[in-house]
Amino acid sequence: MSAVEQVSGIFDTILVLDFGSQYSHLITRRLREFNIYAEMLPCTQKISELSWKPKGVILSGGPYSVYADDAPHVDPAVFDLNVPILGICYGMQELAWLNGKKVGRGEKREYGPATLNVEDQSNPLFKGVDHSTVWMSHGDKLNGLPDGFVTIATSDNSPYCGIAHESKPIYGIQFHPEVTHSTHGKQLLKNFAVDICHAAQNWTMENFIETEIQRIRDLVGPTAEVIGAVSGGVDSTVASKLMTEAIGDRFHAILVDNGVLRLNEAKNVKKILTEGLGIDLTVIDASKEFLGNLKGVTDPEKKRKIIGNTFIRVFEREAERIQPKDGQEIQFLLQGTLYPDVIESISFKGPSQTIKTHHNVGGLLDNMKLKLIEPLRELFKDEVRHLGELLGISHELVWRHPFPGPGLAIRVLGEVTESQVAIARNADAIYIEEIRKAGIYNNISQAFACLLPVKSVGAMGDQRTYEQVIALRAIETTDFMTADWYPFEHSFLKKVASRIVNEVDGVARVTYDITSKPPATVEWE
Ligand code: GLN
Repeated sequence: MSAVEQVSGIFDTILVLDFGSQYSHLITRRLREFNIYAEMLPCTQKISELSWKPKGVILSGGPYSVYADDAPHVDPAVFDLNVPILGICYGMQELAWLNGKKVGRGEKREYGPATLNVEDQSNPLFKGVDHSTVWMSHGDKLNGLPDGFVTIATSDNSPYCGIAHESKPIYGIQFHPEVTHSTHGKQLLKNFAVDICHAAQNWTMENFIETEIQRIRDLVGPTAEVIGAVSGGVDSTVASKLMTEAIGDRFHAILVDNGVLRLNEAKNVKKILTEGLGIDLTVIDASKEFLGNLKGVTDPEKKRKIIGNTFIRVFEREAERIQPKDGQEIQFLLQGTLYPDVIESISFKGPSQTIKTHHNVGGLLDNMKLKLIEPLRELFKDEVRHLGELLGISHELVWRHPFPGPGLAIRVLGEVTESQVAIARNADAIYIEEIRKAGIYNNISQAFACLLPVKSVGAMGDQRTYEQVIALRAIETTDFMTADWYPFEHSFLKKVASRIVNEVDGVARVTYDITSKPPATVEWE
């Protein structure tokens, strides 16, 4: 096994070629749900450049029309792989286009549910899915059967709802099995991957740990050292624990206390990571430097930039200090990149493909001549959580709400000073403590307190007060793209408000943010 071998070269893999549908990544997700490893690549992928051979290929949907001049097309070499192929919507139209060009504009768009009628009951693709509801989303249609194909399923509106090649394992379906509106879609994908492609259902986090530890050891070699930043969040903790399992104390974690962390955060992270998980962690208290650089700054974007740049400087300085005893050099930088970030950067967006870069890491790599190591880059968030639990990381940490890199600096609106941060921090700690006590922490996707630098009049113990405002935010979301505010019980809000005003100096009033995203964002800055 070579050092750079990918997960796709170890586990049986279904290759999903992405033609730009908003659902493409869901195909990958569904396959993994029944323990089949699947990887998505842009539809323009050259097959000869793959270092591994897929067990099967799925051509996704996409916004283009196959007959248009600028429509994307698959590398014809995909058909020489001699593995089963499934075209979904645009993917099926592509198969039809390549086999007789009988594709055109439909009289009307078909969007929504349809009932699947399986015409060929013996076809393995449709085992257990006859008469199920399938989800349609297309404006183009097949005008006839592609050369060499037969019809295997119909719907009221689509005479070519499912097609199959007469002699090869090549299939096309007009609907989207990957969306949950297709009631038996997952079964269909399983029929394809397991029964038709014969892919092994061995993609489990238990197996992943084993292969990944070996992969890290091969990549890093017997002597090199690795450095990485931890934040106290799930991704960096899981990545660090995995590195420690693989190379022990040749992995060095650094937590930069930027002065805008949550209450007791640095202390707690130190305890959990060192004592609990055996990770070699250095905590750097750079709060003075960060707060110094933030002095007088109120613009949210400027705050973010200052924190990012200060972080790079502090981290580099520390990395130099860590230069290991035996003269070995630090050669790698650990990064907790997840699969959604990878998808974001590779998904097919047409001619003007944009690549998202991670600025902080980019800067570190350039200046320090480090190589990047990303052990979580194949994983979705729920897979990372599962992995974390298997690695012995506490349930509480694994299910922690996300926390932004710029920390409390973007939750203290206006200028960030030590005293303002203390107010936001103490209010936040009370709020989260009460959420945990009420047993609703895991029903909420993210909750935090913000300090608004406006003064408001109050009365406490017959004394007039003139202090600031705390805004509480709590949202429910599945993907953080859209979010709604969490409907707390009134008694809960009453209790939190009263505790914050009573226990946190400098607060006269508490409000609850009842704006959804959009139009608002999750964070206030
Ligand atoms: N753009 C094609 C159509 O409108 C394919 C749509 C899709 O893949 N969802 O038919």
